[in-house]
Amino acid sequence: MTAIFDIPPQPQVPIAGNDKTFPVHRIFCVGRNYAAHAAEMGHEVDREAPFYFCKTPSAICHTGSTIPYPPGTENYHHEMEFVVAIGKPAFRVAEKDAMDVVFGYATGLDMTRRDRQQDGKDKGRPWDLGKDFEDSAVIAPITPAADFTIGTQKIEMTVGGEMKQEATLDELIWSVPEIIAHLSRYYHLQPGDLIYTGTPSGVGKVVAGNTIHGTIDGLAPVDLTIGAAE
Ligand code: MN
Repeated sequence: MTAIFDIPPQPQVPIAGNDKTFPVHRIFCVGRNYAAHAAEMGHEVDREAPFYFCKTPSAICHTGSTIPYPPGTENYHHEMEFVVAIGKPAFRVAEKDAMDVVFGYATGLDMTRRDRQQDGKDKGRPWDLGKDFEDSAVIAPITPAADFTIGTQKIEMTVGGEMKQEATLDELIWSVPEIIAHLSRYYHLQPGDLIYTGTPSGVGKVVAGNTIHGTIDGLAPVDLTIGAAE
């Protein structure tokens, strides 16, 4: 059997200090995982269970890119996030064993059409138009887990040099092992899966000409420039 058109290349993320790449299988994103962000969006934190949405792997956008302002939005938002890269299969994994399946960590941006997400909330419809679109999953090179231990590192993001989002990783409501254990009750997690763990407060609008710079102490920074709309 041959394909009727060229099979699209699988998105890959560079690995810090390694010539090899991390091929992306799936992208899971956690919602409302910092209390101050849930509050700014007008929601209570759900302490019973985390919730998720997904992005298509082709939404991956590499740090340093300049991308067009996306179609279909007048309220395009930045969400700075800590990203976990899965390196081993995990199904119904216990929290105590969950960190064994982590390959590494990266900084990322969950770029969002906030107006389209709000439509979905208002109408009880899915969030896809708001969350899963081209270049919406920005990511920097992955740092192997051996070189990074989750603690109280700062997670920060500026637009045009002005601080917009500022928190520490210990403010995550659902910890990384809790998220992996929970997700693995619903999916057979596989090497190549990425988990965007949610954004701190301070999300906001970006427009053409803006430059975003996001950092987490100990990881490669994430940079994005917003160009003119197509
Ligand atoms: Mn997010």
